[in-house]
Amino acid sequence: MAQVIVADLSPFGYYSFKIYAKNRVSEVAERRHKVEGNFIAIVVRTTGSIPATTTIPKTEADSKTTMYLNIVYGFAGIVGLLIVLIVSFACYKIFKRWRSRQEEVKQNKLPVTRESGVRVYDDVTMLSMAAYQNVDDICDSFNLDRDQITLVKLLGTGNFGQVSKAIYGASHSEVAVKSLQDNASQKDLQDMLSELDVMKSLQPHPHVVRLIGCCIEKEPTLIVLEYLPYGDLLGYLRKSRGHDDTYNTGEKRPNSRLTEKDLLTFAWMIADGMSYLAAMRVIHRDLAARNVLVGENKVCKISDFGLARGLEEDIYTRRTQARLPVKWMPPESLFYGESTTMSDVWSYGIVMWEVFTIGESPYPGVPSRQVAGLLQTGYRMSRPRHISAELYSIMTECWEEQPQKRPTFQWLCSAVRRLLDDHKTYVNLEVYDDKDYVNFDVVT
Ligand code: AMP
Repeated sequence: MAQVIVADLSPFGYYSFKIYAKNRVSEVAERRHKVEGNFIAIVVRTTGSIPATTTIPKTEADSKTTMYLNIVYGFAGIVGLLIVLIVSFACYKIFKRWRSRQEEVKQNKLPVTRESGVRVYDDVTMLSMAAYQNVDDICDSFNLDRDQITLVKLLGTGNFGQVSKAIYGASHSEVAVKSLQDNASQKDLQDMLSELDVMKSLQPHPHVVRLIGCCIEKEPTLIVLEYLPYGDLLGYLRKSRGHDDTYNTGEKRPNSRLTEKDLLTFAWMIADGMSYLAAMRVIHRDLAARNVLVGENKVCKISDFGLARGLEEDIYTRRTQARLPVKWMPPESLFYGESTTMSDVWSYGIVMWEVFTIGESPYPGVPSRQVAGLLQTGYRMSRPRHISAELYSIMTECWEEQPQKRPTFQWLCSAVRRLLDDHKTYVNLEVYDDKDYVNFDVVT
C-alpha cells in the first residue's frame, strides 16, 4: 500500500486533498479499448486542529435510494395530513350536530332521546304532537292498521285511559287495546308515549307483557298489547279468596284456591320479569300487584309501563309532581324523588307481601300520607303469621334503608326459586286467616 506524508501543514489552515487511484485493469482498458478510466475521488479536508473528516462521494445507487426514500416519506406525510384533515372534519361535523341538537332540545323542538333509546316527552301538547312527531319514527315496525282492530268490550280504566279487549287482523287474535280518554291531559299523553317507547325497546319476554303495535297517526292514540284474560294479579288474588274486586277487570276467574306453590311461583315470575327489565336498564317505578297481569296457566307478566323510564345514568330523578304509589315507594323516592332499579327492588318486597297475604293492602289501616313518616322512624311491615321467617327475611332485605344494600332481582329470582324447589312449608295457608286484615284500601 502506497503511503504519502504531507508535512508542515499549518494547524490553523484548511486543506483539501484529492486522491485519484487507478489500477492496471483500468490502464489496460484505456489503452486497448479506449475506455476512460473510472476514478474514484476521495476528498480529505482538514479543519484546523479538529480531526479530519472524510467525504466519500455518493454513488448513483445511493442517490436513487435517497430519492425513493424521499418519495415514500413525502407520500406518507401527505396521507397522514389527509387523515388528520378528515378526522378533524368529522369531529367538527359531530360537534356541530350535537350543538344544534342541544339548541333544539333547549327550545323544546325535539323530545329528549335517552341513551337507552327511550324518549321522555316533557311539555308536549296534544296539538303540537302532530307538528313535530315523525309517526314512522315512533311506531316503525310496530305500526298497525287501525281498521283491522275491532273493539269487543271495555276491560277497565287505567292511569291515563281505558283498556279494551279487541280482535285484531284476519287471524282474529285477541288483543288488549289501550287508548286515551277524551278528557286526557298532556301528562296522560306523555305517560302513554313513554310507555310505548319503553315497551318498544324490549324483546318479548315470558314474564313481561308484549307490545304488539300501536296506531298514532291520528287520534285516538292506540297501544295494542297481548291479551291476558285473568286481568291484574291483585284482583286475581282477591277473587281467589271469593272477594269480588271492582278494580279487577279479568274476564276469567281463578278456578281454584291458590296453593303455596302458586304464590311462590307468582313471586318468582315477577322477579324474573323484573330481572329482565333491570338488565335492559329500564326502571318500572310503579311495580305493584295491580300492575302485574295474569294469563293462561297462571303465568304472571309485568305490565303498565306508564311511569317506566330507560336509565341514562343509574338514577332517575322525578322533576314533575305526579300521583305517586306511596305505599310501594322506598324512602329515597319519597324524600328525594330518586328512582333506580334498587327502588324497584323495594317495591318488589311490597309486591311479595301483597302476594303472600293473597291481595291485602300494604300497611293495613295506615293512610298513605302517614307512610313516609313511619318509614323515617325505621318502621317496616311485620311478618304475617302464616309465612316463614325465611320468606319474610327476603322481603325485609328488599326494604333495606340503603338502596345498595338491597338484593338484585337476579338474586331474588334464585332465592325464591330455591324456596320453590326445596318443598318445605314457607307459606302456611292453614294458618292464614282472612280476618287478620281490615278492608282493602282504596288503591292510590
Ligand atoms: P292499566 O292502564 O295498564 O292500569 O290497565 C287497566 C286495567 O286494564 C288493568 O287493571 C287490567 O286489568 C286491564 N288490562 C290492562 N292491560 C291488559 C292486557 N294486556 N290484557 C288484559 N287486561 C289488561
